[in-house]
Amino acid sequence: MATNRTFTMVKPDAVEKNYIGGILEKINGAGYRIVAMKYTRLSAEQAGKFYEVHSERPFYGELVEYMSSGPIVAAILEKDNAVADFRTLIGATDPAEAAEGTIRAAFAESKAKNAVHGSDSDENAAIEGNFFFSQVERP
Ligand code: UDP
Ligand code: MG
Repeated sequence: MATNRTFTMVKPDAVEKNYIGGILEKINGAGYRIVAMKYTRLSAEQAGKFYEVHSERPFYGELVEYMSSGPIVAAILEKDNAVADFRTLIGATDPAEAAEGTIRAAFAESKAKNAVHGSDSDENAAIEGNFFFSQVERP
């Protein structure tokens, strides 16, 4: 069953550059309602757990270091076809390959420091949202 929610983070590079507002504007402009949101910072241990699925990949160590290097904004978003449409909205992992008008084309600096996270499945959207938000924090 498709759900209508996805999970996103504004990553440390984009927070550092004051892109939170610009990114949220694009997210709202695409029809997403913000269900839950928090500004926080991950420890290396927490970032390692969040990205555990990538633990065998060569970039895992750098990814954990980067994602714990500064504050992030985590949010649960709601809209029809939320997961797939959000992947289209953010664009390819590497901003050099991201389509014009996508969030990564506009705000990302590199394949690693790519401004935003977007869940890749309904199942992971639920797991990732639950990682950051308790039941009362995600009405
Ligand atoms: N990443 C990286 N180098 C790579 C691939 C990915 O540093 O070659 C980082 C990047 O920040 C990316 C994250 O690891 O967003 C997770 O990778 P994934 O393949 O899941 O990309 P995404 O789903 O974020 O587009
Ligand atoms: Mg991914």
